[in-house]
Amino acid sequence: MPELPEVETVRTGLAPVMEGRTFVSVVLNRADIRFPFPDNFINRLEGVTLTRLTRRAKFLVAHLSSGETLLMHLGMSGRFSIDVGTLPQDSGATNPKHDHVIFKMSGPDAPTIIYNDPRRFGFMELLERGDIGRLHDLGPEPLSNAFSGPVLYEALCTKKAPIKSALLDQRVVAGLGNIYVCEALFGAHISPVRKSCDLGEAECEDLSAEIKRTLKLAIKAGGSSLKDFAGADGALGYFQHRFKVYDHAKQPCADKKCTGQIARIKQSGRSTFYCPVCQH
Ligand SMILES: [Zn+2]
Repeated sequence: MPELPEVETVRTGLAPVMEGRTFVSVVLNRADIRFPFPDNFINRLEGVTLTRLTRRAKFLVAHLSSGETLLMHLGMSGRFSIDVGTLPQDSGATNPKHDHVIFKMSGPDAPTIIYNDPRRFGFMELLERGDIGRLHDLGPEPLSNAFSGPVLYEALCTKKAPIKSALLDQRVVAGLGNIYVCEALFGAHISPVRKSCDLGEAECEDLSAEIKRTLKLAIKAGGSSLKDFAGADGALGYFQHRFKVYDHAKQPCADKKCTGQIARIKQSGRSTFYCPVCQH
């Protein structure tokens, strides 16, 4: 499931073939993905220029010359690929029956941008000028100055939920999912089962720094993956990244000085991976 670093990588990959370009044609191969496409979706995009592509949490935010904003969310399995006529026709990496949206953009290379989503948890929305829609409910962006130790402490000090669950709450901090929450808690040596309100100010400082560090490292890995995407299937944002605890159950702790073994537990129905020896 794409989290903030994957979405940022998709944004970095799409920006050069979308920013400053006009939607020449838009094809929808079905009426809905997770939600129905907005009314007049095609008419509201064709002939319109995408001025800037930004990201907020796990959303791609396309600012349009019409004053509207196109919000795109990848859900569980959404992926974008770019075809400038160089993709292998039969890479077999994605099944074309799941190509739900096809954008043809202007420009000398006339890129085709394909949105493929087998599980259809992704969605696209058009917001009218001035409307921020569901972005309204999001907490601070973790890599911005709006997120810090004191901000995290303030958000956690009234919460009895385990810290793992609190960090998945998009109102506490936006853009984290299961993977990077496990990684950041490991890096900060904090147990995922701790009560949120029991974390002290110094621990919140460490944890916020670790969240930023973990995300930055992953974004860097994603950026390197873009360099050779043309040789692959053109899908953006799914890169090989080495995790320290995520999906490492029963393996020795990544900390060489620690004798622990990574445990896997269920929290709110989702797997948590952590080291019971060095995470307290
Ligand atoms: Zn350990």
